[in-house]
Amino acid sequence: MRTILFAGLAVFGLSACQTSEPVAVEPAPCLAQCQSEQFQQVSQQLIDDLWRLSPTWALYSGVYDYADQLVVPDADARARSLAFVAKWRKALDAFDNAPLTSNARTDKALLDNLLDSMEWEVTRFKAWQWNPAQYNVAGPFARLMNEEYADLDIRLKAVLGRMGNVSQFYAAARGNINNPTLEHTQLAILQNKGGLAVFSEEMLAKAKASGLSDADKALFEKRFLETRQSILSFIGYLESLEADLKANGARSFRIGEALYEEKFALDIQSGMTARQLYEKALADRAQAQKQMLSITEQLWPKYFPTKPIPRDGMKAVRTLIDHLSARHVKRDNFVAEVKAQIPELEAFVRQHDLITLDPNKPLVVRETPPYMRGFAGASISAPGPFDKDANTYYNVTPLDGMTEEQAESYLREYNHWILQILNIHEAIPGHYTQLVYSNESPSLVKSLFGNGAMVEGWAVYTERMMLEEGYGDFEMELWLMYWKWNLRVITNTIIDYEIQVLGADEAAIMDHLVNGAFQQHEEAAQKWRRATLSQVQLTSYYAGFREIYDFREDYKRVKGDAFDLKAFHEQFLSYGSAPVKFIRALMLEQAQ
Ligand code: ZN
Ligand code: ZN
Repeated sequence: MRTILFAGLAVFGLSACQTSEPVAVEPAPCLAQCQSEQFQQVSQQLIDDLWRLSPTWALYSGVYDYADQLVVPDADARARSLAFVAKWRKALDAFDNAPLTSNARTDKALLDNLLDSMEWEVTRFKAWQWNPAQYNVAGPFARLMNEEYADLDIRLKAVLGRMGNVSQFYAAARGNINNPTLEHTQLAILQNKGGLAVFSEEMLAKAKASGLSDADKALFEKRFLETRQSILSFIGYLESLEADLKANGARSFRIGEALYEEKFALDIQSGMTARQLYEKALADRAQAQKQMLSITEQLWPKYFPTKPIPRDGMKAVRTLIDHLSARHVKRDNFVAEVKAQIPELEAFVRQHDLITLDPNKPLVVRETPPYMRGFAGASISAPGPFDKDANTYYNVTPLDGMTEEQAESYLREYNHWILQILNIHEAIPGHYTQLVYSNESPSLVKSLFGNGAMVEGWAVYTERMMLEEGYGDFEMELWLMYWKWNLRVITNTIIDYEIQVLGADEAAIMDHLVNGAFQQHEEAAQKWRRATLSQVQLTSYYAGFREIYDFREDYKRVKGDAFDLKAFHEQFLSYGSAPVKFIRALMLEQAQ
C-alpha cells in the first residue's frame, strides 16, 4: 500500500517539475513494521466493511454513518454475512504471522476469531431460528434519541430512515423463527413490550417540534404509528407462539456438549476447554468454602456470645451470613446509596495509587431505562471508541417492580458489604475504569472486539485487589462477604456447565446456589433464569479472573523488586479488551 502511494507522488512530482529527472522509487523490503502497517490498513478496511454490513453494530460502537439503515434479518442478510467472512478470511490469510509485531498478531487473532464466530452463528448455532429475543428494534432507536452525537434534527432523520424497515424486519423475524425455546420466546415478549416505551408520545412530539420539513414530519408520524403497530403485532404473534409451545412442548434451551465447547472456545478464548475450567471451578469452590469456615469460627463469638457454634460448618457460615445480611439499605434508597458510594471508591483508588482515573470522564449513575430491564440488576453502558466523549452510564434498576418479600430478599443479597463489592465490580476500578482505558487503546480492533472473559475477569480481579490493598480496613465481615461473592462467580461456572451440558434441573441448581453458595432465594431464582437464557457467558467471570490473578503473580516474580501495582494495572489495560493470554504474552515479551 505504501509503495503504491509513493509511486503516485513520484509521477505527480514529474509533471509538476519538468526539468528534474524522474526518480525511480525502489520499494523497500517490507519488514515487521511495514507488514504491520499494511495489516492495520486491511483491518481498518475490514472494520469499515463491517459497519456497512451491520449498521446496528456500527451504531453501538459509536459509528453513526449508517444509522438510518435497519437491516432486514432475512436469508439475503445471512448470505451477505457469509460472503463477508469468506472475503476477509482470504485477506487476513495473506499475512504471515512471523513478520508481524506482537500487537498486530494479537489483532489478527482477534479478527480471525471474529470471522469464525460470525460464520458459526449463522451455520452452526442458528440462534436466529430458535431465539426470538434476537428480534427487537428498540435499542438503537433509544440510542439515537438519547445520545447527543449530533443535532436532534440529524438524529431524527436517522430515526425516520430506520423506521422505514421495521415492518419488514418483523416479517423476516417471523419467517426465521423455527422451533424456538419457550424461555427465549417469553424473553422476547418481555423485551418487546419494554421496547414499545421507546416509541413514546414524547418521541413524536420531539419530531413535530423539530426542524424537519413538513413532508418529513408527516412521514415520521406515519412510520412511528406503523412501528408501534409492528411491535404490537409481533408481541401478539409471540404470545400465541408461547401458548402453543406450552401446550405442545418446545425445543430445550440446553445447547449440549458439542455446541457448548465450540461456543466456549470462540467466546472465552482461554486455551482451556470448558470441561477443564469446570474442574478447576470445583476445586476452587472447596477452597472458598474453607476460607468462609475459618472466618466464621473467628467471628462467631462477636455476634453470638452465648450461642455455641453449630457443629455443621456450612450451617454456621449460613447462620452468620443470614445474621449479617440484615444490614442493608432501605429499598427506596437503593439507587441513591449506589450514587453515594462512587466518590468514595474514587478517593480510595487515588489515595492508594492503584490506577489513574480520568477526571474528564465522569460516571453517570441512572435508573436503568425500561427497555433494558429484565436481565441484570446493575450494568455499565459505555461509549464506543468513536464517541469517547459520550456519557458512561451506570444503570441501576430500582426495586419498584418487586413485592416486599422479593425486595427484602434482594436487599439481603446486596447487603451493606456486598453492595460495596458490586460497585467496585461494576464501576470503580472495575468495568467503568476498564472501559475508559479500552477506549484509549491504540488498537481499534481490540477496543471494538473485546474479549468478554478479560472484561469480566478484570472486574472480578479488582474486587480481590481492592480488599488486598486495604479497602474496608481488612474487616473480617467484608472478607466473609467477599468469599461468598467469589464463591458465586465460581458457582456460576459450575452451574452453567451443569445446566447446558450435564442437564441439571432447577432443583439441583437451586441447591448449588442456596445451600452450596449461600445465596438468597430470589437471587438464585434469577440466576437460574439467566442461565436458561444465555450460554457460556456466566463462565467468563471466573475464567478471566483466574487468568488475570495468576498472571499478576507470575509477573511479580518476573519483575522482582521493580514490580509496581499501578504500572501493572495501567499496562495491562493499555492493550484494550484482548484475551488475557494475549496480553500476558505481550507484557512478558516487553518485560524480558
Ligand atoms: Zn431487611
Ligand atoms: Zn461484570
